[in-house]
Amino acid sequence: MIVNYLYSSEKDMDKNTDEEQPSTACNQYPKEAVKKRQNSGRGSGSSDSSRTFRKSFRLDYRLEEDVTKSKRGKDGRFANPWPTWKSPTLPNVLKWSLMEKNNSNVPGSEELDKELPVLEPYFVQKPELAGKTGAGMRVTWLGHATVMVEMDELVLLTDPIFSQRASPSQLVGPKRFRRPPCTVAQLPKIDAVLISHTHYDHLDYNTVTSLNERFGSELRWFVPLGLLQWMQRCGCENVIELDWWEENCVPGHDAVTFVFTPSQHWCKRTVRDDNKVLWGSWSVLGPWNRFFFAGDTGYCLAFEQIGKRFGPFDLAAIPIGAYEPRWFMKYQHVDPEEAVRIHIDVQAKKSVAIHWGTFALANEYYLDPPVKLNEALERYGLKKDDFFLLNHGESRDLGTNDMFEN
Ligand SMILES: [Zn+2]
Repeated sequence: MIVNYLYSSEKDMDKNTDEEQPSTACNQYPKEAVKKRQNSGRGSGSSDSSRTFRKSFRLDYRLEEDVTKSKRGKDGRFANPWPTWKSPTLPNVLKWSLMEKNNSNVPGSEELDKELPVLEPYFVQKPELAGKTGAGMRVTWLGHATVMVEMDELVLLTDPIFSQRASPSQLVGPKRFRRPPCTVAQLPKIDAVLISHTHYDHLDYNTVTSLNERFGSELRWFVPLGLLQWMQRCGCENVIELDWWEENCVPGHDAVTFVFTPSQHWCKRTVRDDNKVLWGSWSVLGPWNRFFFAGDTGYCLAFEQIGKRFGPFDLAAIPIGAYEPRWFMKYQHVDPEEAVRIHIDVQAKKSVAIHWGTFALANEYYLDPPVKLNEALERYGLKKDDFFLLNHGESRDLGTNDMFEN
């Protein structure tokens, strides 16, 4: 996490840069290979192949009330439109990192294996079952904010990170204390990846390039506005870059709509690229199921708006960790109680807890997030099962009464 605040090298060590000009590598990929969704382009324009297929009809919004649009400052950088936002200042970053006690106390691997076991995901042994959820859906937690969601004949991955460190370098920076439950090679066929923002624990260069090597242009990347060039420099060809409330779909699966929705956060990978890329959440709306991925966020008005427009969701993936100390973290990371409020605001029937138990990014005890989550659920009169926890690698089937067995 501190890497995100204090990273001070002039060079982005993930071999990608934040320059405005397209690199020569980018020119290897013809412009038409990468389709940018234009808000006004619904049903028109250059849709002439399955790769560039776009929905030809507008989503039937049941409630057309105003929603908050993305905002840019005079310098062209994105800014949070929420009154609940405050930017992390350098003095505050220093105060947090130097003065505040870190209570994470992550133990050795023996105790970790007991407290946070890493299970082999079901698809490693039974890849033929992946994506076959019928009218139901299945979620598998792969650590941190990475979840695999199978719904409406698609297999999705959120903010994938399979690297040891969430950092521009694999030598320094936050190291995961629980290993990824599988490798990229062990994943079933993935149809789409959803990226919420550019922080290193959510956008990992090695994972992006590994997924691209394995799936190539068959894999559709849904990314925030401003990230297209970076993705192109990684070699990804099938990228859709969206502003808040814009939508698109996976070619050949136009019944499922992907909408980039707001959150309260920020972006940074290099010294000078602060907020040049937008951040947000994702609402995936299928004929059978609706899935909400909150990404990384502080609590704000966005979730009520998302719930009114697109709720109820069958499943939401909501962060519960990296929240202490509150005076510093609350603007960008919800605590478990606020996570429960998001669950209510977006009208989730079920939620799965993410963004905990993998990297020690903030100061709370590493096992506090699930304890605090269950306390908050009780206060709100909700059941543990309404906002559930998974082990690393564990799956749960929704839309049936059975727990999926690993
Ligand atoms: Zn972040």
